[in-house]
Amino acid sequence: FNINMEDLELLDELGKGNYGSVRMVRHMTTKIDMAMKEIRLELDESKLHGIITELDILHRAIAPEIVEFYGAFFVESCVYYCIEYMDAGSLEALYDGPCSIPEDVLARIVGSMVRGLSFLKDELQIMHRDVKPTNVLMNTRGECKLCDFGVSGQLEKSLAKTNIGCQSYMAPERIKGESQNLVSTYTVASDVWSLGLTIVEVTLGTYPYPPETYSNVFAQLQAIVHGDPPQLPAMYTDVARDFTDGCLEKVPERRSTYASMLKHPWLIADAEKGKDGVDMKGWVEEALRKRGERKARESQTNIPAAVDAR
Ligand code: ATP
Ligand code: MG
Repeated sequence: FNINMEDLELLDELGKGNYGSVRMVRHMTTKIDMAMKEIRLELDESKLHGIITELDILHRAIAPEIVEFYGAFFVESCVYYCIEYMDAGSLEALYDGPCSIPEDVLARIVGSMVRGLSFLKDELQIMHRDVKPTNVLMNTRGECKLCDFGVSGQLEKSLAKTNIGCQSYMAPERIKGESQNLVSTYTVASDVWSLGLTIVEVTLGTYPYPPETYSNVFAQLQAIVHGDPPQLPAMYTDVARDFTDGCLEKVPERRSTYASMLKHPWLIADAEKGKDGVDMKGWVEEALRKRGERKARESQTNIPAAVDAR
């Protein structure tokens, strides 16, 4: 079905990214709750049309590890697209400090990510281009799904100009390529690096190249290109560490592929545990409970500070 702004009841804001905001909305006729992403673009109408047409291939992205796509439209200079609402939010909001994700839960999350990425490559011939903890979403059924992959070349082009974050998940070869203004020097192997960095971040409890340890963004990017790649904390088993090291090989040709990762002993052992072998639902519930406590603590400590400031 087609979705338009008039069909939607606007609910809470779910978050903000570099390019726009995400709101929860209810599709009034079907009563389906959705997440609606708004991206503000200064483009003419034909270009906006082009983006919507390109986004349409998302209707074919149907897999258990991919967030469902409901539709896209534009209003004035904003593109909107509606996707499945994931009620536990992103991985970034679920991890809490070092080693907060048990290894069996981690393996299951990583398995979903690898199958999702491999589906995008094999079935839709696209790479993700933006693998990072905020683009891995979970729900209270314990499911883990990917969102925000690059299907629209036009949209990517329009966003690229403003893309300066202080947390880069880009592979060394992609950073090198961009600094020399070479387009498409990177391939699907770059997504594998970003996957590895995501694994290390959620287990360390912090982005592996913390901005405060570098004097500027250039130095930080240099560390990614020239330094030793980060590793899983020692608490995790050698098999898990070996898997992650394979994603974070600096030379793209030596990096793991989706086929090799799916055959890796770490993911094989996870698959052998079967569907109910890991209590994903229990872990998500626990992580949400802790997140609620953290938020309550933060608001308690913030109130007196705000009063003092006045
Ligand atoms: P970027 O702008 O680089 O993509 P980002 O991923 O942090 O960064 P958004 O994609 O705009 O930014 O998402 C912002 C936040 O909204 C996410 O971190 C997540 O918490 C929330 N969010 C996004 N999509 C959904 C969804 N489908 N269900 C629930 N929450 C979502
Ligand atoms: Mg996102």
